[in-house]
Amino acid sequence: MRLHLLGVSGPFPESNGATSGYLLEAGSALLQFDFGSGILARLTALMPPEALNAVFLSHWHFDHTSDLLPLIYRLQALSSVLPVYAPADEASALRKAVASAPCFQLTDIAPGDRITVGDAEVFVGEARHPVPAVGFRVEQGGRVFGYTGDTNTLPSLAGFYRGCDLLLADGLFPEEEWTEQKPHLSAALAAELARDAGAKRLIVTHLNPFYSPKTVLREARTRFSDPRLAEPGAAVEI
Ligand SMILES: [Zn+2]
Ligand SMILES: [Zn+2]
Repeated sequence: MRLHLLGVSGPFPESNGATSGYLLEAGSALLQFDFGSGILARLTALMPPEALNAVFLSHWHFDHTSDLLPLIYRLQALSSVLPVYAPADEASALRKAVASAPCFQLTDIAPGDRITVGDAEVFVGEARHPVPAVGFRVEQGGRVFGYTGDTNTLPSLAGFYRGCDLLLADGLFPEEEWTEQKPHLSAALAAELARDAGAKRLIVTHLNPFYSPKTVLREARTRFSDPRLAEPGAAVEI
C-alpha cells in the first residue's frame, strides 16, 4: 500500500495548506480517507478524483468533508457517481448536501462494519469525538494501515489498531492543553496508543497551526520510538 498525505492540518489549514485528507493506494483500490479543505486540488494533482473507488469519512466536521461540495460540480460535469461511506449524523448540514447529491452514493457505517473494495478490506472502529465518528483499519496484501480520524482516548483503540504496519493518529494537543474532555488525543497519547497497539510506525496528524510542531514531536518521542509528524504532500510506503 502507499499513503499520500494530502492535507494534515486541523481544524483549519496552515498557510497554503489543507485539512484532513489521505489517499491510500491499496492494491488495485484507490481509497480516499476524509476530504477536507484544499483536498480536491491536491488530489486532482495526483489523479482524477472520479477514478476513486470509494471515499471514507471519519465524521462530518468541515475540516474532514468541506471539499466534497465543489467535487459535486466536477462529478456532475462527468456524470460520475462516487461511493461515500460515513457515520450517520443527522445534525450535519454537509451530510444533508452529500446525501441529496445524485453524484454521491452515500452509505452509513458504524463500528463493527467491514467493507470490501477490490482486494482491500476496510474495518470500521470506534472513535470518541463530539459528533458521531469512526476510525478505520485497512488490510491488503498482508499489510495493515490504521487511521484514527478524530478521537480522544477509548479502551477499544489499542485492540482495533493491533499490529498496524502504519498508524496515522490524531495527536493534535500538546500535553499541557489536553484534558479527558477534549475532542482529540495529545501527541503523547497518540504515541502511547501506537505503542500499546504494537504498531510498527506512527505518523501523528491533525496538526493545529497554532501549536509548535517541535513540542508535539518531542512529546510523542517520550512514548514511541521514532514517531513522525505528518508532512503535507509526502507519500509513504506501507
Ligand atoms: Zn478534525
Ligand atoms: Zn472533528
